[in-house]
Formats: sequence, structure tokens, C-alpha cells
Amino acid sequence: MKIECNFNYSVEVEECNIDYLTSGFKQIQEMVFTDFAKTSLEQFGDSAMKEAAKPFCCTCGNNKDFIWKTKDAKPMKITTIRGEIELPQMQVQCKSCGKKMFISRALLGIEKYQKMSLTTQKMLALVGALTPFRVAEKILGMVGIGIDRMKVWRCVQKVGKAIVFDLDPEELPCGEADGTGIPIIGIKKRGQELKVFIQKKIGGGVRIAGLAIGKYDAGWDKLFAPLRETIMSFENFLLVTDGDTSIFNGIKCVNVILQRCLWHIPHQLKHCLWADKVKRKSADWLEIIGKIYNIVSLRSYMETDDIDALLLAKRTQLNSLITLCAERGYNGCESYLTNARPDMFSALEKRLNGKSSSLAERVMRTVNMRVNVGKWTPQGALNAMNLRLAHYYNDWRPGEPDAKGVKIVRL
Ligand SMILES: [Zn+2]
Repeated sequence: MKIECNFNYSVEVEECNIDYLTSGFKQIQEMVFTDFAKTSLEQFGDSAMKEAAKPFCCTCGNNKDFIWKTKDAKPMKITTIRGEIELPQMQVQCKSCGKKMFISRALLGIEKYQKMSLTTQKMLALVGALTPFRVAEKILGMVGIGIDRMKVWRCVQKVGKAIVFDLDPEELPCGEADGTGIPIIGIKKRGQELKVFIQKKIGGGVRIAGLAIGKYDAGWDKLFAPLRETIMSFENFLLVTDGDTSIFNGIKCVNVILQRCLWHIPHQLKHCLWADKVKRKSADWLEIIGKIYNIVSLRSYMETDDIDALLLAKRTQLNSLITLCAERGYNGCESYLTNARPDMFSALEKRLNGKSSSLAERVMRTVNMRVNVGKWTPQGALNAMNLRLAHYYNDWRPGEPDAKGVKIVRL
């Protein structure tokens, strides 16, 4: 529809300073936008009333016979990504039941009682997932858009909550599960753990297959429950973990092959050495760390015979390292390595291309960069991370509408 609109403003400017002009334009922008939206709304309203079937419907089921009551009832506030504007509520009356109804929101594509379109909510939600709420408010304000942080927060909660993850049966039967502590309101330490299940993609990279929040050592069953069917649809599924047993207990699928994350092993062994009171960089420390790095380093591609040879050598080296720890009385290290032993080379044994370097580490950095700014409720943190990770790893976008429906001719 061709909208007839004219914008005529008389502007008084005292000084031709670009900063003054910029701040003056903020006012013009609001006026032009309001006028543009208002004119469009009225003209679409008129045209809708001329159509046989209306783009709105009365509760009685009638969508044909209406009469105008008013085109300018009390104004309503609408929030857009360009700021808040006021638009008239237009009212019509149903000719079959006599009921009056407002039609502005229906024409604007905004749900009943809402102040924003779904797209606006998604855009603000993304802003809040990318940057702290305070920063979001600051930057939006600087470009002339007065939207307070609570509004951004609410969008993050609403939109984030609706995001669900799953495994993609078309991608690799291989994933990684890991957790990271989240700062929770009212608790000194990182009171809850965000649990992340990532799936490897054929073309490289990862996608998020599941996200949950809960206590340490719990909550994995809730994450895996909706994914069980898809996991079972793969012949085998290789799951890389840092050794957290609650992960394996949570998955409960017979076709899952567990692989210790080899990337984590030297880090965790360093912690064991510290607990066994072995001084950092002492002769024993250097010997044990040197050996473990040797054991966990694998090359990415090998022939089958080579794998057998390597497996034999790796197992021998691991066994003698365990013996060495036992002989020197490093019991923490001994039991840690003994526990890890069965699942250290599962991927290699099954000839699954299990380069078990930690892919989760990068995802966790993406989490931490946002979640460490501030304190959260468990659900609040989960909603924000749903959005953030969906955006970074699963191509979630707010679906910003392109302007192809709008053609403007400069007169
Ligand atoms: Zn009616």
C-alpha cells in the first residue's frame, strides 16, 4: 500500500555544531518515526475496513462487518528497537454482537496486552545476552534509544526460556559434556553448575545439544532425558567427559562410549600432585607431568595397525606411571589415574576419530565472559545462556525483518 506522508518540521538551531545537530536529530527521529507509524497505521486501518474479510476478528467469530468507533482513542506505548513511541488505539464495533474492540495491535502484529512485537523482544534479548544489562542500557541510550535495563532483562528471560536444544541426527555421533560454576545471588561461591552438552559438527566446530543448570554432580539426567531417543538412533555415540561420573549416570544409553577428556587429564593430575604435597617443578613433579603429557598426546590420523601399536605402548606407559606414583606414595595421583584408565583410550580402541581435546573449554569461555558479569538466579542464568550459546553456536538470530516490504521515494 502506498502511504501518503509528509514530514514538515521547522527546526531552530542556534549553533551549527555537529554534536548539537546530532542531539537535535534524536528529537526529530522520534517525531518522524511516530508520524510515519501513525500515518501508516491509520491508512492501513482505513483500507482494512474496506476489505470484505478483515485482518482481525471479533470474539463472536465475525470478521466481516464492523463500523469505526474511533481512530484516536487513548494512545498506547509501543517499544521498538528504535525506542518507545505512542500510537493511537483505533476502535471498531462488531455489527453482529455489538462488542467494541481495539485493532491497532492486530494491525501492527503485536500480541494482545503486549508493548512489543516478538521481533523486538528477540532483538533486545540478544542485546542482553551479548552484553551486561547495564551496558545495554548505556549504549542504547547513547544512540538515542531510551530502553531501561529491566526491559532488556525481561526480554532475555522470556525469549531465552523458549529456546530448546537437541541433538542433530545429521551431525556427528560424538559430543562433549562439561560443567562450569555460575555466580548465584545470595551465595558466596559459585553455587550452581551450568551443564553443557555439545555435539561435534561434520564440517568442524560444535553445536549446543543440551543445556541445564543445577547442583554439582546432579541434573545431567534432566539434560539427557529428552535427547535419549536421538542418542539411541546413532549406532554408537562417543561421549567425552572430564570424568564426572554424574554425567555418565545421567545419560543411561547403552550405545554410549565414554572417553575421558585427555585435555583435562594433565590439569587434574596437577591438582592431585598438589594434594599429594609434591612441590611444583620438583624432580618428581617434572617427571610425572612430562610422562602424562606424553601419554595423552595423540596424533589425529593413524592407520589401524599403527593404532594397535600405539595403544599397547600408551597402556604400558600409563601402567608404569601408576606404579611409579604408588611406589613414591602419591596415592591421590595413583587413584586418579587408575580411575581414568578404563576410559582414556576408548575412542582410539573403537577406531572412532576421537581427538579428545577440550572443545567444551571454548564454549565455557563464551559462557563465562557474560555470566561472570553480575550475579544470577539459576533460571535467569540458564535463560541468558540459552540465548547466548544458541546465538554463538546454533545460528540463532532474532530474525530482523528486512525492509523489502518498504520502498521509499525521495521527492
Ligand atoms: Zn462480535
